[in-house]
Amino acid sequence: MKVLIAVKRVIDFNVKIRVKSDNSGIETANVKMSMNPFDEIAVEEAIRLKEAGTADELVAVSIGTAQSSETIRTALAMGADRGILVETDAELQPLAVAKLLKAIVDKENPGMVVVGKQAIDDDANQTGQMLAALLGWPQGTFASKLEPADGTATLVREVDDGLQTIQVKLPAVISTDLRLNEPRYASLPNIMKAKKKPIDTTTPDELGVDVTPRLETINVVEPPVREAGEIVADAAQLIDKLKNEAKVI
Ligand code: AMP
Repeated sequence: MKVLIAVKRVIDFNVKIRVKSDNSGIETANVKMSMNPFDEIAVEEAIRLKEAGTADELVAVSIGTAQSSETIRTALAMGADRGILVETDAELQPLAVAKLLKAIVDKENPGMVVVGKQAIDDDANQTGQMLAALLGWPQGTFASKLEPADGTATLVREVDDGLQTIQVKLPAVISTDLRLNEPRYASLPNIMKAKKKPIDTTTPDELGVDVTPRLETINVVEPPVREAGEIVADAAQLIDKLKNEAKVI
């Protein structure tokens, strides 16, 4: 089975993000970028499927500027076999990404697509679901365990009141949750080997996809600074303050 993995280049999760001075968005100039953490989990899971003999080819796809090829290289160094870069400088929203991924799926015919449950920059949590809808495929979202077998995949999902186990028919779109696995680090020899693995480049035009944004960002602001707390002497004072100052009880 061929597995397609979507890997997004985002601001590294350790970076303290700054809002642009004109409030139009987040400052990305001179900021460390990395693979979206949930996509690292997607790559790791696909590699484990290959190691288990369930998958035989892993294709990492990234959509964005030319630098997104670095994110693909990371996936190749972890263990993916080849990459596809859909190169564009345009602002990308989940529907456009889902349409582009669908166009790639139509060409590649994978047995499974694995995406992150959400990108940590837009926090949209939409792409996988939109892709499944566009393809007319089943979707298994927020997988914390994944076991494909005989044309199906069984997955465990962490839901509000416990663990839900579901089965989807393949081909399907799977999205990864945090506890699915712990992604490996790429070893130096594998980083060197990854330089020789192929990356094909295409564009939204070549794929016939219009990526015009459907949503307009009106304003981006920093969250309000949290006010300092206060230590009270005893429970009686706490109750007094909740009653008479905060007026919440
Ligand atoms: P989102 O719906 O934006 O929260 O993203 C969910 C998942 O879709 C991500 O974790 C990625 O696997 C995939 N994805 C979103 N945008 C891109 C992109 N520009 N390139 C590759 N994959 C993407």
